[in-house]
Parts: sequence; C-alpha cells; structure tokens
Amino acid sequence: MKKMKRDTAALAKQKYDLIIIGGGIFGICAAWDATLRGLSVVLIEKEDFAHGTSANHFKMVHGGIRYLQHGDIVRVRESCRERSALMRIAPHLVKPLPIVMPTYGHGMKGKEILSMGMLLYDLLTLDRNAKLPAENKIPFGKCLSKSKIIELFPDIKSKGLTGGALFYDGQIQNPPRLAMSFLRSAVKEGAAAANYLEVTDLLRENNQVTGVKVKDKLASVDFIIQGKVVLNAAGPWAHHLLKSTLNLKLTPTPIFSRDLAFVIPRRITGKFALACTTSSSDVDVFFDRGGRHLFIVPWRNYTLVGVWHKIFDEKPENIKVTSEELQDFVDEINIAYPGAKINRSEISMVNTGLTLFGEDEQQGSKTMSFGKRSYLFDHSKEDQLDGLITLIGVRATTARGMAEKAIDMVLIKLGVKKIRSKSAQIPIYGGKNFKNLLQTTQHQGQLSMLPNVVQNALFYNYGSEYINVLKYASNAPALLKNFINSTVLKAEIIHAIREEMAEKLADVVFRRTDFGTGAIPASSVIDECGTIMANEKGWDELQLKAEIDDVKAKFLQYLDSA
Ligand SMILES: Cc1cc2nc3c(=O)[nH]c(=O)nc-3n(C[C@H](O)[C@H](O)[C@H](O)COP(=O)(O)OP(=O)(O)OC[C@H]3O[C@@H](n4cnc5c(N)ncnc54)[C@H](O)[C@@H]3O)c2cc1C
Repeated sequence: MKKMKRDTAALAKQKYDLIIIGGGIFGICAAWDATLRGLSVVLIEKEDFAHGTSANHFKMVHGGIRYLQHGDIVRVRESCRERSALMRIAPHLVKPLPIVMPTYGHGMKGKEILSMGMLLYDLLTLDRNAKLPAENKIPFGKCLSKSKIIELFPDIKSKGLTGGALFYDGQIQNPPRLAMSFLRSAVKEGAAAANYLEVTDLLRENNQVTGVKVKDKLASVDFIIQGKVVLNAAGPWAHHLLKSTLNLKLTPTPIFSRDLAFVIPRRITGKFALACTTSSSDVDVFFDRGGRHLFIVPWRNYTLVGVWHKIFDEKPENIKVTSEELQDFVDEINIAYPGAKINRSEISMVNTGLTLFGEDEQQGSKTMSFGKRSYLFDHSKEDQLDGLITLIGVRATTARGMAEKAIDMVLIKLGVKKIRSKSAQIPIYGGKNFKNLLQTTQHQGQLSMLPNVVQNALFYNYGSEYINVLKYASNAPALLKNFINSTVLKAEIIHAIREEMAEKLADVVFRRTDFGTGAIPASSVIDECGTIMANEKGWDELQLKAEIDDVKAKFLQYLDSA
C-alpha cells in the first residue's frame, strides 16, 4: 500500500493533467475518480484534508425520500444511487440508518400520505440494493402503528398521533476517515496530494488557465504547479478564490447557509433515529407537510441532533455560533420531542460549517429553502476562460457522483477519449473483503488482546486495512494499548503520521482518529497523544506545547457557545 508522503518539491517538477484545489470530500472524490480514469492528478489543501465542512457534518447519507415532497425525482434517484454506491465501496464506514417519522392526523401530516410516499420511493428505487453486502441492504419502508411509536418513543406527543413511518438513510461512522479512505485510494492509484498548501493565485495565459501559485504553509515558501485543467473544489471558499485571483464572479451567486448540529454523549433514542417536526417550514415543498424536520439520531454511543440552517454571507472563517442560539436550538428540540430532555451543558461537540443553500435568493431562517443542486461550472462558457471548472457541493452524500460528472468534463477539456468511471464500483481503502471480518478475525493474533469495543472501532474506521495500524505494535507492545476512556489505539498515532500525512497534533486528534469526533478527550490523553507525536516528529518542548495548546483551544472553540 503506497503511503501518503508530503513531497512538495516533486509537485513543482511535473505538469499535471488535473490540479484539484480543496481537500474536502468533493475534491478528494474527484481525485479518486480522476486517477481511476488514468489522469495525473494533484490535490492541494490549504489546511488539513477534510478539516472544513467535510469533517463537521451530520453523518447522514441521504437516500432521497425527503426530496419526494419537493417532487424532485431526479434528486431522489441521485441520492439513492449515491447511498448505494457508498455502502458498496465503503461498507466499513457507511451503514443503513433506520429513521422513524411519527404521523399526526390524516391530512398532509398523516399516515396515508406518508405510506403513499414510501411506496412511491420504493418503486422509484427498486435497484437500490444492487451488489450491496447483505448487512447493507435497504429494506422497504414500513408503516408503524400508534402503539409501536409510543413503545419506541415513550415521551412522544400523543395528541393526534396516528402512527408513523419507518424508512432508511445511511450513516457514516467517521466522516474524515471516509474522506481519508477515498484519498488513500487515490494516492495508491498515483495521485499526489499535500495538505497545508494554499492556492494563492490561479495562473492564466490568454484564455487558458495553466496552473496555480501555492504557498507552503509549513515551510513558508511559494512555488508554481502547472496543470492542463484546474478543478476549483474549494467549497465555501470557491467563489472568494475566483474573485480574489481572477476577478471572476459566479452567476448566479451561490448563497451559503451556516448549518449546525450538536452531539450529546448519551443515547436518547434506541436504534432508531427520530424525525421531529418543528414550526418552521420549507418554502418550496410540493407537498407541504406543515413543518420541517429536525433529527435525533443514534450514532455510536452518542446522539446527533440537528440540523439548523441560517443564511450566512460572510467569509467561512467568520463562522460562529452564539450561546443564545444554541440555547434556542436546545429549547426547540426539547419542544419537538419532550423525551429528549437535553440540557445545554450536556453538549459534547458542536459541528458547524457552510453549506450551499441556493442561488441568489435572500431567504430568512424561518422560511427554509434547502440547497438543491451542487454547482458545476465550466468557465469556458460564461467567462471565456478555458481549463477551469468550479464544483461546489451541496451534500457530502453526492460527492462521488458529482466528482464523476466533473471528471467527465475534465476529460472533454483534455480531449481524451471518454473512459467510463468506476468509482461507484471499486471498493475504497478498507472496503475490500470487509464482510465477516469481525467474526473471522476477532480471536486471532494481536486482535485477540484487544477489548471488543476497540476491535470494533478499528474495523469500522480502517475496514480490512486495520492490519496497517496493528503492524506498528508488532515490535512495540506498548502501542497495542488504547488510550484511557477511548477506543483509540496508541498505534493509530504512529500510523497517522507515517501513512496519512498527519502534520499537526490537531490532524491526528480531529481527523485521523476517533478522538475528536464526539467529545473532548481528557486533557491527559491529549498530552499523551502529543508526546507520542513529538517523539515521532522530533518536536522540541516548545512545539509540543504549542501543538497541545492548539488542540485544546480548538476544542474550547467548538464548545465556546455550549
Ligand atoms: C452541520 C452540517 C451538517 C451537514 N449534514 C450533512 C449530512 O448529514 N449529509 C450530507 O450529505 N451532507 C451534509 N452536510 C453538507 C456537507 O457537509 C457538504 O456538502 C460537504 O462537506 C462539502 O464538501 P466540500 O468538499 O465541497 O467542502 P469543504 O469540506 O469545505 O472542503 C473545501 C476545502 O477547500 C479548501 N480550500 C479552500 N480554499 C483553498 C485554497 N485557496 N487552497 C487550497 N485549499 C483550499 C478548504 O480548506 C477545505 O478543506 C452538512 C453540512 C453541515 C455544515
């Protein structure tokens, strides 16, 4: 397995078919799809891979049933196709998520309309289980009786309750690890990638973009990378980058929403997620069911609660959540589902980021119109500038599919024969031979020395490549221990540094391991993790302290409002 090496000197020596700006899930999926089609690719990320929205989302892989109420069949099909693709290529990281939606009365919020919707969805998605492993197959939706709903959610509002609907989305075990699995696959196929490399300029000769100027943030040097096509996948930064470098404006102007969800370190519902209806509603729904939905979702040993949307037109760096807002959200969810009984002080993590919301519309947070389509823009048409494509993604769910479309465009630009994309079929890092891993290996070798919860975390984060982590403990038994109150193995720290380009302690804590995904680890754990990393990287006392302080400050920043 080829390791990820940060070799910036090599990047300046080659002319790539494709330069991708942005190491979020969309840019990373594009790198994977492009390398599979034989292109030479470099992916450039100004911070760490997936540090932005891609590490901070709600972990749902939408199956598309909700888009039926907008009458958007194309989106229903797209979401379902991508949910199937992810569960096929990353079975270790993506699992079906059963969701229950209670029904009230017999009108638009009633059981009859919802059961018709589920039937229609099932008919539209009959192919959804093609080539999926048995445990990831999505069953038909089902109507539940009123008594079943009360049994599952004893504190549900019972006035007018007529029953409920059970349907399925998918859920991601660990979003930054999903991004990393895609990236490792791309690197294995030959892609180059570097974090902490910021694109500061886009280079053009006449009407052709020819490359990018970058700043190496770790070495404080600037250099140029040449490419035949540049894919701007810089997410919420994409249009700022176009403006500041080429003075281009995207038309229509993308509007972003600050999305927010939070984590509670206990299970509120059992194995089912609960969709709760709130008082604000979508402005553009086809079948208005009189409110929009917040979700209470079981995830590992936690509960995810969200998602709230608010139009945000500042720079992504300025994103913040006030304490009052968070209290309002807690109040809203407690009203929607009194059984939640959430206290603000319980919140163990706040996830927020910017999501594409719509185009050119100014809509307040009370009238929700969700972002519907990702933004794929060929600048040769509007701006008469060739060699440049912009892709701004609307949902992580559809990143692979949109990446495939973007690479179709790249192939046309390069004038090469269309090679069919295989990224929906080929398992990504850890996804191959995942079936039965748990049953067949748990009593073998080093694994048998680990508690079951640690084994599970290893399997679901690294899939069939878990062995790449354990090998670091072969000659160093101390690394075969998990950190206190955590399922993270000490060997994972070494693995992240040597194989996954972890440059900073924050990279290890927030994006390579499970440490920073649900709650703040104990201070002593962060210190110990830092010490292992300092030994590996040769940091002095001063740098170690700075790295630890940085991680602790980031955790506080997440929870500042809580
Ligand atoms: C709270 C919340 C909940 C959500 N829930 C879900 C969900 O449940 N399911 C779902 O499917 N989607 C969800 N989404 C949406 C999803 O997270 C996004 O659609 C997706 O992560 C966007 O990925 P991206 O790669 O486009 O952007 P990003 O992850 O933001 O990546 C863009 C990258 O570009 C880099 N970059 C920017 N400028 C430069 C530069 N000059 N040089 C180099 N690199 C640069 C940035 O550093 C960044 O890493 C949610 C979003 C939020 C905020």
